[in-house]
Amino acid sequence: KSGFAAIVGRPNVGKSTLLNHVLGQKIAIMSDKAQTTRNKIHGIYTTDKEQVVFIDTPGIHKPKHKLGQMMTSLALATLNEVELVLFLIDAEQGYGKGDQFIIEFLKKTKVPVFLVVNKIDKVHPEDLLPLIDRYRQLYDFKEIIPISALQGQNVSALMDQIGKYL
Ligand code: GDP
Ligand code: MG
Repeated sequence: KSGFAAIVGRPNVGKSTLLNHVLGQKIAIMSDKAQTTRNKIHGIYTTDKEQVVFIDTPGIHKPKHKLGQMMTSLALATLNEVELVLFLIDAEQGYGKGDQFIIEFLKKTKVPVFLVVNKIDKVHPEDLLPLIDRYRQLYDFKEIIPISALQGQNVSALMDQIGKYL
């Protein structure tokens, strides 16, 4: 099985950290530069069972100028080419304005979307459910997976779920 998975989410939710953890290299750090060069950096995760090409997707925010508009349409094109989208959120920060735009964006694609609730190491478990409920009211996510990208908590479960959608 093989396929593409795009990672989207507000700045600082942990997209690069997740990529770094999954890929076991500092490869995603480059994708911060990619935001300025507007190139998409792909990281490839390979096991004997699956191969996933990850795309750290820049440009999904409310465009303020022409270049931003271009990046937004590029990002939309990207999302229509992948097998799966991982929508990362920060469990501690919770719902924010930037999420609203991303969700509107996700509604324009037909690709399955996972809600990946990151930084669970920073919150009380009982606070997770209300947060997840809030997001579930906004979008019909295929899977909802809490993780800590920094500590690697539940990341293997995430990878298992990804494998099912390739
Ligand atoms: P990005 O902008 O979405 O790529 O976010 P980064 O991967 O650069 O992460 C932003 C900050 O959040 C960094 O300081 C990370 O160390 C921190 N971070 C990312 N994931 C986690 C996590 O699971 N737990 C905690 N406590 N911090 C995290
Ligand atoms: Mg990043």
